[in-house]
Amino acid sequence: MRWPEERIRMEMRRLDLKTGLHGSDLAITFNNSSRYLGMYHYGNGDRPPFFTFSRKYFENDDHPDSTLIDVIRHEYAHHMVDARYHGIQERDHGRTWKKCCIEVSADPARLYNVDRARAMRQEEKKQEEQTAVVRSLLTDLHLGDRVIHPTYGAGVITGMTPNSVNPIICLTFSDGVMRRFPAGWVIENCSI
Ligand SMILES: [Zn+2]
Repeated sequence: MRWPEERIRMEMRRLDLKTGLHGSDLAITFNNSSRYLGMYHYGNGDRPPFFTFSRKYFENDDHPDSTLIDVIRHEYAHHMVDARYHGIQERDHGRTWKKCCIEVSADPARLYNVDRARAMRQEEKKQEEQTAVVRSLLTDLHLGDRVIHPTYGAGVITGMTPNSVNPIICLTFSDGVMRRFPAGWVIENCSI
């Protein structure tokens, strides 16, 4: 599953740090709804509030991370309204909810567009593939290796971040200055 419970919870923990709330402690369940990507269930009596997310979207490789993160934040904003203004008489997506959305960077006017989402996911997949290629090429490089940069000339690799989303290579040149470059660019443009 691309977005298992733990990954959703991690995003909520990030939001908890911003809001001081404890939304990431609530239960998360999954269903197979195609109409709703996610839902926040208000607590009642002895049942605490909880979240539900649709497997149809969170298991599906065609929906971009940005959409799914927005769904999580959208539902989290419902929880913010509930936790801070318990019992408030307002529409579900009313002013207070929109203010909460802005606080956690959720889109308060989310219009889910399947075609746009699919195109974004294709772009993400392309990026992921490129990053994987760069990472595998990086395993051949080591700190201390000599690299010829087309502008700065001979340099030595003095730093690498092979595991980051956008891997970086740091080169130190004969003038003693260290410069940082995207690893993919170095592999393509420098002689190694
Ligand atoms: Zn909603």
